[in-house]
Amino acid sequence: MKKIIITGVAGFLGYQLAETLLSEGCCIIGIDNLSTGRMQNIVKLNAHPNFTFIKLDVCSDNLFPLKEITDIDQIYHLASPASPKYYQQYPFETIEINTIGTKNMLELTKTHNAKMVYLSTSEVYGDPEIHPQTEDYRGNVNTWGPRACYDEGKRLGEVFCYLYHSLFGVNIKVARIFNTYSAGLRNDDGRVISNFVNQAIKGEEITVYGDGSQSRSFCYVDDTIRAIMLMMKNDAANGEIINIGNPNEITVLNLAKLIKELTNSSSDIVFLPLPKDDPKQRRPNIDKAKKILDWEPKVSLEEGLRRTINVYKSSFSN
Ligand code: NAD
Ligand code: UDP
Repeated sequence: MKKIIITGVAGFLGYQLAETLLSEGCCIIGIDNLSTGRMQNIVKLNAHPNFTFIKLDVCSDNLFPLKEITDIDQIYHLASPASPKYYQQYPFETIEINTIGTKNMLELTKTHNAKMVYLSTSEVYGDPEIHPQTEDYRGNVNTWGPRACYDEGKRLGEVFCYLYHSLFGVNIKVARIFNTYSAGLRNDDGRVISNFVNQAIKGEEITVYGDGSQSRSFCYVDDTIRAIMLMMKNDAANGEIINIGNPNEITVLNLAKLIKELTNSSSDIVFLPLPKDDPKQRRPNIDKAKKILDWEPKVSLEEGLRRTINVYKSSFSN
């Protein structure tokens, strides 16, 4: 049975990844400090005999509980606030988890001769001038702004991965994740799909920031999870950075209209100020993922939104 560590296991992606790996018969040791994650996710995972939870800050000097674990095969390092609402609320912690926390997990990977997947982000491209974004695009990030803690924290996290791979031969794969969604997002997460779907279902105003002409490309969670698991398995991904996302791009205003239509909502669409440094466009080039992983997304935006809306709706009616 494979012994796998997942950091950030109480969060949106960590929980879903743990469930999938447990269903495949793996033994999961989940780590989280419960800063943005949900205890209810841990309660559900705890029902599984092959799941162990350790409440721990991955940046901590005292990683004693992890040093006790023997024969770790794989580490998925997901811990980090991901919603702009939270990383701007915890800017120093966001830098630390992606730098010190990443270094700690790389050390553990090295000690156990294990493999690691690090979840980086499309935010490393900043407000991109190249469209769609390929992995060799070096980005356009502002160091002097509210998103810098996340964008630069992730960029430095990638540097740690590069150093451990090139200097010590550690088996490391970096996934640059583009906007991923499902009903697993907290209602109060602040990211656009959870905001719009919740607002539309409750009949509240749908809050478009700016004029809504900025674009994003949304990937359904199942597709993202499948991709990062393929990265872990695939030796050709060792030492590689790979974009993971759905190239189907939509403007934020059209997303609001689509969600209003799919929920049959009478909500008004209102326009609020655009946050500083909000990227104008974002769409992944996924040629590398297709070539190395034979992966591409299967769930269309409309299908993914229908699934998301159904789950949120049933949670409100319960
Ligand atoms: P999330 O906020 O739902 O989950 C992150 C988890 O990490 C939370 O459970 C939180 O409590 C935990 N955590 C934070 N700091 C920690 C620390 N110091 N020690 C231990 N645990 C800590 O976010 P998510 O959407 O699940 O994102 C997971 C990863 O994927 C993040 O690294 C994020 O940057 C990356 N990512 C996500 C997306 C997306 O669209 N969801 C896009 C790009 C990148
Ligand atoms: N956004 C919006 N209304 C909201 C939340 C977000 O218009 O209630 C916009 C936000 O300004 C950005 C896009 O939706 O242009 C995606 O935001 P999100 O926070 O989900 O992720 P980002 O890609 O910015 O990290």
